[in-house]
Amino acid sequence: MTKKDIKSISYDELSNWIQENNYKKFRTDQIFSWLHEKNVVSFDQMKNVSKQIIQQMDSEFYINSIKIKKKLVSSLDNTVKYLYMLEDSECIESVVMEYAFGRTICISSQVGCKMGCSFCASGKSGFVRNLTTSEMLDQLYVAQRDLDCKIGNIVLMGIGEPLDNYDNFIQFVKNVSNPKGRNLGLRHITVSTCGLVDKINRLADENISINLSISLHASNDLIRKSIMPVAKKWSIDQLMDACHRYIKKTNRRITFEYACIDKVNVLDKHAIELAERLKGMLCHVNLIPINPISEESFKAVENVQLRRFFDILKNKRIPVTIRRTLGQDVNASCGQLRRDSLDV
Ligand code: SAH
Repeated sequence: MTKKDIKSISYDELSNWIQENNYKKFRTDQIFSWLHEKNVVSFDQMKNVSKQIIQQMDSEFYINSIKIKKKLVSSLDNTVKYLYMLEDSECIESVVMEYAFGRTICISSQVGCKMGCSFCASGKSGFVRNLTTSEMLDQLYVAQRDLDCKIGNIVLMGIGEPLDNYDNFIQFVKNVSNPKGRNLGLRHITVSTCGLVDKINRLADENISINLSISLHASNDLIRKSIMPVAKKWSIDQLMDACHRYIKKTNRRITFEYACIDKVNVLDKHAIELAERLKGMLCHVNLIPINPISEESFKAVENVQLRRFFDILKNKRIPVTIRRTLGQDVNASCGQLRRDSLDV
């Protein structure tokens, strides 16, 4: 019998297993807490669980555990970047950032990515596989253990497209937010997507009101198609319809990420076009000076033009911020560390 990955299963599945095997009901809470709150790495660490249950769990399940392969700490702002090694030796990365409101971890959802955005390092080595639910959870659990602190916010903005790994991503959100385990509030979880419209619609119906961040990066379809292949499948209008629906269902404010690329998407007319599209929407625009990657000739926009773009949006009453860059000395941008590790 192949053993099952116990951190990837839901609370209800665990509870069914406990009942099927005629163990007492309260055992589910104990075991779920050992796994998701105390983050044990072996069954015999579960001190208050009977030997018999431990033995049976050991024969039917395993506890997945990812390893820190490399850790870089920024001397500028304490940003910590982890390169993690998975059980099949694939590598992914996570970044822990410190903000005034607390710590945030940026986690990966896939090994590689299929989406092929031209400015992003994550997809340049292709797609390998989806992460399991436990591999997503472990990025948080291992970092918490290593830093000896609780990390209170999660953004799914690392390597991969979370909505392209939909089921594991949803299970991750359910497990990490379960009050019997890590109990992280849904308001402290943000998923970022390049805009898989069908999945955004599905997410809106899940009844889990997490924050949604859309990697928009363009004010019209022509530009978007030239830098993001996903735009050939869904137009910005279709994407906006899905966003409006998400807001209606969840009452959450959407963030639009806009990577500013010199001469591509940051002319005045693009700011005007963008403001027109977002007028009246419960949203917020986050301008990101693009982080140039070695494969492409994209250049970051000059500060003066970035400021002009910002002012146009602001004057048109679109809530807008310029993203503060953290961890510049530790290659903290999406996919850069994994890509470097593949090169050596
Ligand atoms: N696939 C998801 C999440 C991962 S990318 C998504 O597309 O949203 C996280 C964010 O970093 C996205 O907004 C992405 O477009 C942005 N990004 C990727 N490469 C970048 C670069 N070189 N400079 C600035 N932002 C980048």
